[in-house]
Amino acid sequence: MRRLIRACYTGAGGYSYARKADDVAREHGFDRVARLASNENPRPPSPAAIEAGMAALREGNRYPDERASALAGALRRYHGDYRFVTGAGMDGVIETVIRTVVEPGETVVASTPTFSFYGIAAAAHGARVVTVPRREDFSVDPAAFARACREAKLAFLCSPNNPTGDSVPIEAVEEILEGMEGLLFLDNAYVDFADIDYRPLMRRYENLILGRTMSKLFGLAGLRVGYAFVPEWLEPFYQKAATPFALNSVSAAAAIGALADTDQVREARDHVREWRQRFLEEVPFKVFHSDANFVMIDVAPHTGDEAAERLAAMGVLVRSCTSFPGLGDHYIRVSIGEDWENTRFLEAIRNL
Ligand SMILES: *Cc1c(COP(=O)(O)O)cnc(C)c1O
Repeated sequence: MRRLIRACYTGAGGYSYARKADDVAREHGFDRVARLASNENPRPPSPAAIEAGMAALREGNRYPDERASALAGALRRYHGDYRFVTGAGMDGVIETVIRTVVEPGETVVASTPTFSFYGIAAAAHGARVVTVPRREDFSVDPAAFARACREAKLAFLCSPNNPTGDSVPIEAVEEILEGMEGLLFLDNAYVDFADIDYRPLMRRYENLILGRTMSKLFGLAGLRVGYAFVPEWLEPFYQKAATPFALNSVSAAAAIGALADTDQVREARDHVREWRQRFLEEVPFKVFHSDANFVMIDVAPHTGDEAAERLAAMGVLVRSCTSFPGLGDHYIRVSIGEDWENTRFLEAIRNL
């Protein structure tokens, strides 16, 4: 029956998931392992998020509001007067945007090395995926990127970038936006940890989408809440293309609670910034500057796979970057976790 499966799913590739912490703990005899492989917030959701989610659960017999209007309202209170669309994680938003604008066979551009899901989702939709390599230092060459985008309806750029951690300067984004006809999806999953603000660009460009997620700083990875700033003209078409009720009512309510808890968010951000600096100073390998809640580390002469394996044996889960196309085989990505996790990581990497 395998012949029935689409070609894009019968080969190698696909999304790479982190190893399960329980499996690693059992295999190496630890009570608990440091979970630094998935860029999550190590702390549980804010009490305000949990309370709001529980209240919504009591009305779980009803379908959610298809536009998640209450969440859109909370987002306007948080960010200001912009247009928002929502989805099941930013991944869900990415899929819907592709579905809204790209016909099978049309070109989608992405800058590599980067988050793999743009290419996976675009290819699954039948698009032709064109990748534009970043420079040697992993910065984006805006002229080269804009050139590749000339024929494209949609392009993806990640800033701060996963896994390299660097941000694309505002002027470079402007140069790209001015040089392309199609839409630019700027993935801002980690922008909460950076000192850069792309939101004002939404007032000046009709072809920009800013992707956001509640999975990282806001600590709701398990609830799958993503959203995007979109130009006004796009919104009705996005709504038409979206899977009905993609964002469930419990997650939407929890997101509203999380957005209101500014103290918890500020603390989480400060914690990340403090430890990011310590990783930069104390890890005995080359650590790349990062604006996100993780750092990329060059572990040569080890490979990323070897380093990840040996760190796991010392009770620390990190991400080997070998599955990121366009990157060498000697990098790992390490999230900022709780104090005990970060301390265990620093000790382990000194003993690599
Ligand atoms: C984690 C991540 C996302 C997706 O987040 P979800 O909202 O959990 O789907 C999107 N883009 C990048 C770069 C990420 O690292």
